[in-house]
Amino acid sequence: MGHEPPRRGNSMAKTAYWDEKPLEALTPAEWESLCDGCGRCCLVKLEDEDTGRVYFTEIACRLLDVTTCRCSDYAHRRRRVRDCLKLTPDLAASLAWLPPTCAYRLRAEGRRLPWWHPLVSGSPETVHEAGISVRGRVSLTETDLKIDDYAEHIVSWPGKSPRGALQVAKIAAKTTRKKTTRGKTTRGKAAGRPQIQGSR
Ligand code: SF4
Ligand code: SF4
Repeated sequence: MGHEPPRRGNSMAKTAYWDEKPLEALTPAEWESLCDGCGRCCLVKLEDEDTGRVYFTEIACRLLDVTTCRCSDYAHRRRRVRDCLKLTPDLAASLAWLPPTCAYRLRAEGRRLPWWHPLVSGSPETVHEAGISVRGRVSLTETDLKIDDYAEHIVSWPGKSPRGALQVAKIAAKTTRKKTTRGKTTRGKAAGRPQIQGSR
């Protein structure tokens, strides 16, 4: 779900609501800010009609800006892309295919946000620097291909975490220092593209 940029980022905030509040208790603004802007969930997915298993492709939703990794028409996305899902706390806890790095998934599992999350690092760039986002890894959009060809672009990386990506404190400390020195799957049906929730 390529969304709006985080509205804030401050690892020194007094109340780290993102690590403390359950998803259900977040305000709409807090909910929105939880999205790290990785764009992984905005990749086209294919569902095996027999097993229900969902596979990521390296094909972007037509509204995903693959440079910013954000939705290019977030306000109207669900009108323009009918299977763009509205993520909710319940879905965050139950959608098996949500990327393991997704902040909504992490919080639904009771985990803290990792060092590269913009809310923790204070920079919207760290999600890209840490290799979490789709930037540089995706060049095709769904309008570039016929749906029958989507299966040739199934990839596994959106469903994986880069090594060490989910560490919290250890790497966060390093980052601070650095900143100071400066259908079947194959041709199955397209699976929903969740979008962040809430008021969205
Ligand atoms: S329409 Fe939905 S899936 Fe597509 S880029 Fe926007 S938020 Fe992502
Ligand atoms: S996978 Fe999660 S954190 Fe990443 S863009 Fe989608 S909703 Fe946001």
